[in-house]
Amino acid sequence: MRHRIAVVGAGPAGLTFARVLHRHGSPATVLERDTAPHARPQGGTLDLHDALGQRALGKAGLLAEFTRLSRPEGQAMRILDTDGTVLRDWKPRPGERANPEIDRGHLRDLLLGPLHVQWGTTVTEVEPADDGVRVRYADGRTATFDLVIGADGAWSRVRAALSPVTPHYTGVTYLETGIDDIDDRHPELARLIGDGSLAVYGVNRGLVAQRNSGGHVKVYAQFRAPRTWHTDPERHLGLTGWPRVNLADPQAVRALLEALFDGWAPHLLDLLRHGTAFHHRPLHVLPPDHTWTHVPGVTLIGDAAHLMPPLGVGANLAMLEGAELAEALAATDDLDAAVRAFEQTMWERARTFATMTIAGLQRLVSPDPAQAIALFDELQPA
Ligand SMILES: Cc1cc2nc3c(=O)[nH]c(=O)nc-3n(C[C@H](O)[C@H](O)[C@H](O)COP(=O)(O)OP(=O)(O)OC[C@H]3O[C@@H](n4cnc5c(N)ncnc54)[C@H](O)[C@@H]3O)c2cc1C
Repeated sequence: MRHRIAVVGAGPAGLTFARVLHRHGSPATVLERDTAPHARPQGGTLDLHDALGQRALGKAGLLAEFTRLSRPEGQAMRILDTDGTVLRDWKPRPGERANPEIDRGHLRDLLLGPLHVQWGTTVTEVEPADDGVRVRYADGRTATFDLVIGADGAWSRVRAALSPVTPHYTGVTYLETGIDDIDDRHPELARLIGDGSLAVYGVNRGLVAQRNSGGHVKVYAQFRAPRTWHTDPERHLGLTGWPRVNLADPQAVRALLEALFDGWAPHLLDLLRHGTAFHHRPLHVLPPDHTWTHVPGVTLIGDAAHLMPPLGVGANLAMLEGAELAEALAATDDLDAAVRAFEQTMWERARTFATMTIAGLQRLVSPDPAQAIALFDELQPA
């Protein structure tokens, strides 16, 4: 019997799920609130690990295409101190493909391939019904499925059908900006960053620049502060005389960041000066041991199930879960047994990574910058 399966969200988790299921000859209804694949910028670059994200792409039959699109040179990593002295300068060995980078937009296109997504479909609620699980859309329509998979990210609407838990703030905020055409317009900054990423760590502050394709660079100013820091920077950030900052005003945000990173080498601050728009990203997480009592017909994958700090794991896990759940469903008629078994595996693995990345964030943006460097030394291949 052909089951009615819906996945909410066309991010890395939802699309990998749908693509692997499609490879096994079964369709899934993909519901996505974005109105089109590139209706909003997809964000920066992702490194896909050979044991996680790349394994998922293998299950989708997309590894060869990934090899063509990804940037192995993007694995390079340079760490500086706040004076601009280079402390570490890792370059990948020739042929090294443990964690190549790919732009999120390219990854979405790669996964989409032949899939039909119901773009512009926002799910507001999921509830058990007599004949399956009913999904309610923002425009008032409803549809019923045998299985609904919530792959709808950090602020999942599907999660409420399974768990009362919501993400909490980590105490660390990122302000993200971007620089276009860096090689032509700012060659000295381009050389500073190199082929991959540049990171600088100070006391409770960090500055990270990551190359994307096409000469674009994403820059993340990272700092420890209460969630409402922008309402009173004098009190929350110790910036004497600073009034409330309008986060929608790039000039005001840039000026505040220059004050916050005052004393760092001027050429490092150019990474902030050349940024155009700034996006406010207070980092939230779910508890590392987040689970739920199994409910037939509904489950979660990816950030919806286990939101963790962005230390290079979230999209990888999301994709592997999507692939593994699709394979499990394709191999059985007993959807519920397959979902139950999958949830146990997902929870156990996610708990390990969530615990690791939460501890990692404590060391990355910390009162002791040496902790951040030690963390990178531990993560770097010998
Ligand atoms: C700055 C930063 C850098 C990161 N870098 C990395 C990295 O290098 N490597 C890595 O592995 N991870 C990284 N991550 C984490 C990674 O981005 C996430 O873990 C990953 O995107 C999770 O995928 P997902 O599919 O579960 O959710 P998402 O990517 O959030 O996708 C969810 C999708 O659901 C849609 N949606 C949401 N609500 C609804 C709704 N109600 N109805 C319909 N559709 C909906 C959204 O529009 C979206 O398309 C980073 C995160 C950040 C913030």
